[in-house]
Amino acid sequence: MGSRGDLHTHSTFSDGILTPTELIELAYQRGVRIMALTDHDTTEGLPEAFAVAEHYPDFTLIPGIEMSTDVPGSEVHILGHFIDWGDDQFELQLVRLRESRLGRARRMADKLEQLGKPVSWERVESLAGEGAVGRPHIARALVEAGHVSSVNEAFDLYLSRTGPAYVERERLTPAQVIETLTAVHGLPTLAHPRDLEGLEGLLEELTTAGLIGMEVYYQDYTPDVVERLKGLADRFDLLPLGGSDYHGFGGHQQRQPGDIPLPDEPVERLLALARERGALETV
Ligand SMILES: [Zn+2]
Ligand SMILES: [Zn+2]
Repeated sequence: MGSRGDLHTHSTFSDGILTPTELIELAYQRGVRIMALTDHDTTEGLPEAFAVAEHYPDFTLIPGIEMSTDVPGSEVHILGHFIDWGDDQFELQLVRLRESRLGRARRMADKLEQLGKPVSWERVESLAGEGAVGRPHIARALVEAGHVSSVNEAFDLYLSRTGPAYVERERLTPAQVIETLTAVHGLPTLAHPRDLEGLEGLLEELTTAGLIGMEVYYQDYTPDVVERLKGLADRFDLLPLGGSDYHGFGGHQQRQPGDIPLPDEPVERLLALARERGALETV
């Protein structure tokens, strides 16, 4: 039995392989009843997702987003749940972020060409589909071009932070992202925190900035890790949330929608908090 809630998923509007329709159908079949679509830096999958969700009266779709942020030496992702996704200012900001993402992906493709491992830019764009072009699309183009045998190998050899084709991206700081999300009534949650350095210091800073939750239940997190993160969440008065971060890539780390030990109780508390802040009428 999977969890009823899954607060972190991706569709073809960012780097997932399923359309919002296919994703919701899969999640529903697997018993998920409260799901957030949290594509990277875009809300463009939400109209399709809401149109599908309407067909399932016992299914709650949470409008969400995952935003990338920068702290020295590592990458911090913040999820925003219950965002006011029709807000014009917010949309403009997202367009600017996506443009910088595109420029960065092009520079990575240039570097690969210089390394003698060219990929077709048209192919990278078509792999990205409607979504924002990212490293996973370049990785898949590298596999297709026969330069590497898997997406993991593409990251290991070329695209990881220390890889020869990696290009840094302009990002907002985590506190700026929290501010941006809060301005559109989003409830900000720290995503996949297990490997973040200086997590306690970061939590102190981000809780002050308005963080309300942290992913505690996630993909291959072991019971030990869950225990440690749950302790931190309690200490900082954060909701212990979680999700599969489903992309559909497969691989040993990835989980199916709802295939995480997320209990109902923190999900219900998230819904209650959204109601309290007047966000639920956007659903
Ligand atoms: Zn992430
Ligand atoms: Zn994600």
